[in-house]
Parts: sequence; structure tokens; C-alpha cells
Amino acid sequence: MLNNNKNIENNKASSLSGMNETRLLVILGAGESGVGAAILAQQKGYKIFVSDFGSIADKYKQELDQLGIVYEENQHTEAKILSASEVVKSPGIPDKSPIIKKLAEKQIPIISEIEFAGRYTDAKLICITGSNGKSTATMLTYHILKNAGLNVGLAGNIGKSFAKQVALEKFDYYVLEISSFMLDNMYRFKANIAVLLNITPDHLDRYEYQMENYSDSKFKIIQNQTGNDVFIYCADDDETLKGLKKHEIQAKAYPFSIQKLVEKGAHLENNNIIIDIHQTNQKPFSMSITELALQGKHNIYNSMASGIIAKVLELRNESIRESMGSFTNIEHRLEHVAKISGIDFINDSKATNVNSTWYALESMPGEVVLILGGVDKGNDYNMLKDLVKNKVKSIVCLGKDNKRIHEAFEDDVEIIVNTFSAREAVEIAYHLAKKGDTVLLSPACASFDLFKNYEDRGNQFKQAVKEL
Ligand code: ADP
Repeated sequence: MLNNNKNIENNKASSLSGMNETRLLVILGAGESGVGAAILAQQKGYKIFVSDFGSIADKYKQELDQLGIVYEENQHTEAKILSASEVVKSPGIPDKSPIIKKLAEKQIPIISEIEFAGRYTDAKLICITGSNGKSTATMLTYHILKNAGLNVGLAGNIGKSFAKQVALEKFDYYVLEISSFMLDNMYRFKANIAVLLNITPDHLDRYEYQMENYSDSKFKIIQNQTGNDVFIYCADDDETLKGLKKHEIQAKAYPFSIQKLVEKGAHLENNNIIIDIHQTNQKPFSMSITELALQGKHNIYNSMASGIIAKVLELRNESIRESMGSFTNIEHRLEHVAKISGIDFINDSKATNVNSTWYALESMPGEVVLILGGVDKGNDYNMLKDLVKNKVKSIVCLGKDNKRIHEAFEDDVEIIVNTFSAREAVEIAYHLAKKGDTVLLSPACASFDLFKNYEDRGNQFKQAVKEL
């Protein structure tokens, strides 16, 4: 059914044991992925040097110290880094950073931790990418596979480092959440099952503000696939359809759609998800969308993608249905926090782009006080305008610079207020809302101006709600 070619065979030259100890592997960035890569590299006999331009968290320093791995923080010692035969780069480091430019000039290969770890496992790799829904679909897929009794690991942009697990665990399957930044430094890696959920504008600052560059990066999820592999994609997504004209698919393709009937893949019929991939001796899967644990249109897509994966792996329909009904949503994604004086408070802090906020608003039943703002990554707010006009009674901006939000919505919403902390935003939103309304934190922006990250923003929001 799936290709048994091992990723390990894909890149023999650089993984031959015995050769490694003479080659210096430099790891840039000592976070979860970098430290994981160091652990695996040490196990494989590489000479290693870890370098982080910022400070390294204590728990990672301890791990490196315990293993006797050489590292530096708050600096990059250029001479040493430029003597590397290969570099594993954290996805957080942009290509425009000076050290990456110098490495590129010297044509030193730069790979991602996923590429590196992929060389040393023969597990089946299920790789999920997209602009939105990656974590949700990855966690849901992991939940379905694990419940069905498969020996499966979870990694990528989520949880524990893939490389570390390849070094220390022995899983038969991995479900990997893959970001475009990871894909940018993946070359020989191959997904046995690749999922592309959607392509909508995000992170364009890292792609020269060219949608095509970003789309090309997402399409790297299918590179090296053969006819024995599987590619799952959304047939309702315009950018994906555009990309399909440009990128040739070698794998078996299974689209999913809620707008049209698809012959092989997933579609909706009278509010039932139907998944039929024409397997012999396998009945098509069907499940009412009202029974899905994850509600909202976007989650029908996520559930369809996960369901197709489960069918490809020939899991029982009953088991898939049970798992899709029992999955508990992950924090900060349309998370219901509390109902106070008849007002629902919802934490969707992970909505860091306009498209995810669109889906959040779309799924709101009544009137909304919307908390919006943060670091704008070149947002086009136009796509939100209709929903804002119809559903949003006031906007509470939560960001240092809210000019673009005011400009975008001043004709659509009567009240737009600036706030500079989660507590202030929650208190004002509470005053603006009435019984039956929803206060929705779905910022459409990154969080780094006022918060450490989106988790911090969501946690501070939840805390402020609890203190009302
Ligand atoms: P990612 O890991 O790609 O950032 P998440 O699963 O963490 O995606 O969800 C991020 C945000 O996008 C949340 O606000 C969530 O409600 C919304 N979302 C989830 N799935 C989808 C989807 N398929 N399409 C659009 N938005 C989605």
C-alpha cells in the first residue's frame, strides 16, 4: 500500500557511519528542534557545534551539558560555523540573517531538523502542512491513529523534537506538523502521506511578499513522492488548485471538499462526511458532522483530511468515528473559556492571520465583540469586512500599533477601542458586550509586541476572564 523505500536510503552519502566523525555538523538555534538534532547527531557519531544568537533556555543547556555537546549562546562564532560541512537550521532563523547569507555564499548545505531526522528512520511519515489547521489536523490524526492501536509518534512543529524521538524511540508511524519554514530546508525528505490543508496569505514577509513563493514552499510537501505515496488536499482552496497546475503530482491524490462531490476522497452528503478512496474490501466511511468533536466549517476540512489518512491506513470505520467524536480541542483554538452574565468568552489566540479569524467569525452564532490586533504581517483585512459588518458590534484592539485596523473597519463598526493589555481588553470587551453576545479573542496578528507568544496571549486572556 505505502512505499517502503526508506528515507534512510535517500541520503546515504551523508549518513554513512564512520564518515560522520570527520564532518562538523553545526546546529543553529538551540530550542526543541536544535537540541533534538544534536542528540541524534551525537548518536550517529557526528562532530557537533551548537550555536544560538540568543540565550538558550536552562532546560536545553542542561541537556547539552549532560551529553557533553559543545555550544555557545548570545553569539555566532563565524569562523567555526563556516567550517561546517552541513548546517541544521532552526525554522525560526530567517534566510536574510547575516550568518545564513554567509553560509549560502560558501554553499554550505543548510537543512531542517526534519530533513536531518528523516535520514535515520524507516517509520511511515504522515506530514501535514497548510496555512491554517496544521496543529489541529496533526493532533486529531495522532488521536485517531493512537486510538486504533498504532505505534505512533507526534512531532514536527508540535511537542517533542522529531530528531530526538528518532534517536530515542521506536515508532512505526509519525504524524508530523510541517511548517513552510521547515519545508524551505527539506530536499530529499519524502512524506509517505502528505497533506496540504490550504494556502492563504501568511508569513509573506519571509517570501518577498510573493504568494507564489509561499505556495511553492508549501508544495514542497509532495517532493520525492512516487506512485506508492499519497497526497491529500483541499479541492475548495483556490491557491492549492492554482498550484496543482504548476506542480506535478506523482502520488495517489485524494481531495476533500465541502462544496462539491469528489469521486475519490472526501465530500459532504446531507451533512454527512463521506470518505471513499475505492479500497477493495473496505466500506466507505460516513459520519454526521453534528457528531464531530470539532465544530465549525474549518474543522470539517480538518476532520476530512484526518479521516482520509485513517482510511489510507485501513483503520476501521467504527474506530475512526469514535475518535473523531471524542477528540478534545487543543488550547487557544476556538477554546471556550467561560460564560459570564450570559456572555461567552472564546480564546482563539492561535488565530495569527486573517484567514483563521475569518473561520472563527464565520462559526460565531450571534453578535461578537472582537479582540483583534498585534503584529500585523502584511494583513489584508478586506476578506473580513463582510463578516465584521454582519456580526461584529465592536472591536477591541490589542496591540501596540492599531492604525491599520482602524483604517480597515472604521466604516463598518461603530466602536473601535485601543487597549494594551489582555486585562484591559477583557474588561472593556465585557462592558461592550450584552447577554447572548460572544467576546472573541481572534487577533489575526502575531503576538510578539505585547506578549511572549500566542500561548502567553491566550493564557493572559483566560486569566483576565476568570478575574472578571
Ligand atoms: P496552525 O498549526 O496551522 O497554525 P491551528 O490548528 O493551530 O493551525 O489553528 C490555527 C487557527 O486557525 C485557529 O484559530 C483555528 O481555529 C483556525 N483553523 C483551524 N483549522 C483551520 C482551517 N482548516 N482553515 C482555516 N482556519 C483554521
